[in-house]
Amino acid sequence: MTPVAPSPTVQALFAHQQAHAQRWRQSSIRERKKLLRQLREAILAQREKIRAAVMADLGKPAAEADLSEVYPVVSEISHVISNLDAWARPVKVDAPLTMLGTRAEIRYEAKGVCLIIGPWNYPFMLTLGPLVSCLAAGNTAMLKPSEYTPNTSAVIASLVRSIFPEERVTVVEGGVEESTALLRLPFDHIFFTGSPAVGKVVMRAAAEHLTSVTLELGGKSPTIIDQTARLEDAAKRISYGKWLNNGQSCIAPDYLWVHERVKDAFVEKLTQTVIKQFGQRTAITPQSPDYARVINDKNFQRLDHLLRDAVQRGATVEWSGPMDAGQRFFHPVILSGVSLEARIMQEEIFGPILPILTYTDEDEVIRHINAQPKALALYVFTTRMSFFEKVMAQTSSGTACLNDCVLQFVHPNLPFGGVNNSGIGKAHGEAGFRAFSNEKSIVKQKNGFASPYALYPPYNTRVRKVLDVLIKWF
Ligand code: NAD
Repeated sequence: MTPVAPSPTVQALFAHQQAHAQRWRQSSIRERKKLLRQLREAILAQREKIRAAVMADLGKPAAEADLSEVYPVVSEISHVISNLDAWARPVKVDAPLTMLGTRAEIRYEAKGVCLIIGPWNYPFMLTLGPLVSCLAAGNTAMLKPSEYTPNTSAVIASLVRSIFPEERVTVVEGGVEESTALLRLPFDHIFFTGSPAVGKVVMRAAAEHLTSVTLELGGKSPTIIDQTARLEDAAKRISYGKWLNNGQSCIAPDYLWVHERVKDAFVEKLTQTVIKQFGQRTAITPQSPDYARVINDKNFQRLDHLLRDAVQRGATVEWSGPMDAGQRFFHPVILSGVSLEARIMQEEIFGPILPILTYTDEDEVIRHINAQPKALALYVFTTRMSFFEKVMAQTSSGTACLNDCVLQFVHPNLPFGGVNNSGIGKAHGEAGFRAFSNEKSIVKQKNGFASPYALYPPYNTRVRKVLDVLIKWF
């Protein structure tokens, strides 16, 4: 691939931000909070436009836009404003005997100029959410929203222009070409949300400048329902977590492992619940106002192929309905008897198809989960705490929930992020502030005699004796 040079405009913007970053790094917490308040006000003032944009891009119902795009950003701002003084305060640390006479502390300094690349599935929230942490930590930011949501991207650009000078925050609209060009610049931090495949591209580019990264990636999030689970509750929560935004959520339950004994009862409850939550009367149709759409034709075709491939390999369709490719209306689908070899079990589904696998041996489930890349989220529905703890102890995932799903994303006091294939680094609240900060360790030495003198060369008998004591006792 021929290298793409950043356009002169983007390079100039970057240089402009670099020059400004020094000044903004020294901004007071008060100044930063004032800026965040302005951002909150601007978002609230543009609420209608944001709803209209995500409706145009994703067919996202207005209430879902409020719930999953506006509210998380606004509440993140409020949470940051309430806690920033405490998070940004230097932390004094004790001196051990070997450091006698010194004082030490950790300071949180802004990294500098940051790049935030957003995905299309929650295009507003996943571009502006990281911006909140970025500004709170005292950085400048260049934002690159997804090209698949041009309406939301335009709203973000105009909102940012209305309150920020471009040397502090600027938006570069466009797709892979613009993203590639931006990634050639020596940013101080890159915060990327998207697929594991593009995450690798971002990390390779960042390595060129040894830029630190936060990678919020995806993958398959498994869900286990054991024979003791409260099926009614499980159905409600899984229906919501899976079909919210038409299954296009990074932490949606990707597939289920259900104990054989409760599978039929669960499928029945689940089907009824999905209709209750997202349908009208007895069905889900293109007219159902609470059911979002697949983002584009390419993804509609991809989901269609996944479904056909699973059925060809022996899966049973437990529930489906009429589809409308023209409107990108993909009816919820529940599959059982899915082969582990089917494509749908190999890649992140990111759509409204839910495969159900059954089990009787819980160790087999744990072995299967451990044979896959580490998940962003793992959900367990059970009334046996011992089973939940066993799954927690024997598997690794970025996040987890007992008897619910998706909820962990909005808990303000929890770091959010994956592990290995599902991500590197954490976001939200304090973790987000730390991700955009350099933890600077400072030691303050006094003048005159200091304890390290005892170890300075020449390495005579006295120094060697001190070393013997150190090695033995400290
Ligand atoms: P994507 O990786 O295709 O694109 C994300 C961003 O990267 C877009 O802005 C795009 O323009 C840019 N991009 C795409 N290809 C690029 C390339 N070759 N070089 C440089 N930049 C490039 O992801 P997507 O399809 O927008 O989003 C879906 C994925 O994101 C899913 O895997 C999902 O699980 C994941 N996701 C993760 C989180 C999280 O918080 N962990 C949240 C939402 C989505």
